[in-house]
Amino acid sequence: MTFSLLDRPIQFLKGVGPARAEAFARLGVKTARDLLYWVPRRYDDASRVDPIHSVEVGTEATVVGTVISKGIVPTRKGLRIFQAVLKDDSGMITSAWPGQPWLDRKLEKGDLVLVSGPVRFFHGRQIQPKEMTVLSRAGKESDGDSTGTIFVSYPASEELPQWVLRSVIGRNLDALLPQVSEQEECWSPAELRELGLVGIREALEALHRPTSLEHVEQGRRRLAFDELFFLQLVQARARREAMLAHPGVVFERSNLYIRPLVESLPFDLTDAQSRVLREIVADLTSGRRMNRLVQGDVGSGKTLVALFAMLLAVESGYQAALMAPTEILAEQHQRRMGALVSGLGLDVDLLTGRLTALERGRVLERIQTGEVPLVVGTHALIQEGVRFSKLGLAVVDEQHRFGVRQRMALGERGEQPHTLVMSATPIPRSLAMALYGDLDLSVIDELPAGRTPIRTLLRFSGKREEVYRFVRQELARGRQGYVVFPLVEESEKIDLRSATQEYERLHSDVFPDKTVGLLHGQMPADEKYQVMRAFSEGRIDLLISTSLIEVGIDVPNATVMVIEHAERFGLSQLHQMRGRVGRGEAESTCILVAEPGEVAMERLKVLRDTQDGFRIAHEDLRIRGQGDFFGDRQHGRDPVLRFADLGRDEPLLVVAQRRARALVERDPDLARPQHARVRELLETRHAERLRLFQVG
Ligand code: ADP
Ligand code: MG
Repeated sequence: MTFSLLDRPIQFLKGVGPARAEAFARLGVKTARDLLYWVPRRYDDASRVDPIHSVEVGTEATVVGTVISKGIVPTRKGLRIFQAVLKDDSGMITSAWPGQPWLDRKLEKGDLVLVSGPVRFFHGRQIQPKEMTVLSRAGKESDGDSTGTIFVSYPASEELPQWVLRSVIGRNLDALLPQVSEQEECWSPAELRELGLVGIREALEALHRPTSLEHVEQGRRRLAFDELFFLQLVQARARREAMLAHPGVVFERSNLYIRPLVESLPFDLTDAQSRVLREIVADLTSGRRMNRLVQGDVGSGKTLVALFAMLLAVESGYQAALMAPTEILAEQHQRRMGALVSGLGLDVDLLTGRLTALERGRVLERIQTGEVPLVVGTHALIQEGVRFSKLGLAVVDEQHRFGVRQRMALGERGEQPHTLVMSATPIPRSLAMALYGDLDLSVIDELPAGRTPIRTLLRFSGKREEVYRFVRQELARGRQGYVVFPLVEESEKIDLRSATQEYERLHSDVFPDKTVGLLHGQMPADEKYQVMRAFSEGRIDLLISTSLIEVGIDVPNATVMVIEHAERFGLSQLHQMRGRVGRGEAESTCILVAEPGEVAMERLKVLRDTQDGFRIAHEDLRIRGQGDFFGDRQHGRDPVLRFADLGRDEPLLVVAQRRARALVERDPDLARPQHARVRELLETRHAERLRLFQVG
């Protein structure tokens, strides 16, 4: 690659130097390019800035003015107030910061500042800023643009105050922008028109030197599109790798098993189930290898849909396997599927780590000879020594517990079987597309009719006695229940203690006449298994647990769940846990116990008011931000998406995915000259970063 100004270390830009370069590096800005693609923190519209003369006492105002004098004023009570007089073309106003005398060292005479806050009367009009930005510092360094109509603020640091950042950008932008059109533009003018996007140069200019807030948005959209496009491109290539490089086995519908099963069910499939099943059957009979994600709320009937797909494999002379995240779930699937297909003369074998060597040997043999058509298991399915005679379909249940790698590992057993992934945590469509862009997406957005909704109650922690009374009533009727405590990584020890301590208390003081069990992540696997088993067989009345309960268990007789410190869980996680009750005929109740607090209650009310997992997930995305889902925060890395906002960019994402997939179909290796720029940007800028994300 040719040497580019954009690759220059930031140190060599105007107004930077070694000391500031280090400070920039701490903000993640190491090259000129990093600086160009650095996302401002906020934009203030100058047309909404008040002329100083018009500012009225009793209102909130935003003004921009030059500091013409400043100083610290002591009060009689010993409070030190920093004051500055600000001037613009229309007049002057005093700005006061009580208790912040240190500002005297930050602010200089001649500084151009933007302040906003309430205006009071104190020897004349006085503004008390809640926000203050030094836009430029006179004499020292010129700002490329202090007269613009939009004020841009960057995520400043102690060492790199706002005016320095603005000045560095202002002084270098004009030299860098021409490089951008030459080296970073991957769309032709015609393509840009078609996409309704501005060029990369204009986008970056709009980011740093916008003429209006709409201009900022135009720039952001373009940068967001590129982000989404390259993310989809990496995934489209993985998808091609998985699907097209290995032509799929072609299944044929004989209706030998599917029709009789449909007829034996005491209910009809929901419209959503039928639709998704049609999508799956279309894949399986197409000659292309299926790689599909089925999303649906707890209880929407995903497993049944999967069973039909598995039967299609068997009808076509292949085996099918389902991998579940826990042993208990695997056993449950095996039992239920077994019961459903026994009338068809089919067996379902179980392969988990709990089998004795002898049993395991027997199952492995049946798998290898093809004697057993359907196999359900855990991770044990992807271990050494498991060889299928003719695996045609691999189903992975509860995807979020498995990494991408494990999902692929099952797909690599045998001769590249079709893959169906089922996610029990509904996530917004945009997020699903971004996270699983290598998969096709099916959504079961409807629950079977006649489900009794789960009653959800919010209680402050002070009302615990009342909560216990309710639980006692349910247990007295022969029902079972859960009490769940949070377990978050950072404070695992504290939480663990609270669950164990609470277990002691509930067990000996609160429910002495009931069998109370304890389940947490630190227990040896076998102990966990025994406890879950005892609970599902009704030998434990009340299970004290950490959030482990989320996916592990399905007990229709459990009708009450108490979630302690509910404010500490994510909404989707709470919804997922709540789905552990309400699995039988009886009405179930979920009680969210929270510490008093406005924000927490607002959030939890979402859960109380709806049982629509997709709506909850949307709210969750809005509240937590997308970075949480990409693991940006846990891994402390640069955000995967800086400009794109999955809350509102779904239309952009749809276009990005379509384009990326079409490109990969036409030119999988991006070998054609007109795709050289895309390939270069992919290789130098995106591939590494996005690959990391894929594995994570
Ligand atoms: P999921 O895996 O999506 O949580 P399941 O497939 O386990 O849901 O189904 C939950 C329960 O609903 C099961 O008992 C299943 O037999 C039942 N079920 C599935 N589809 C229907 C339907 N169309 N009508 C009524 N009950 C259904
Ligand atoms: Mg399920």
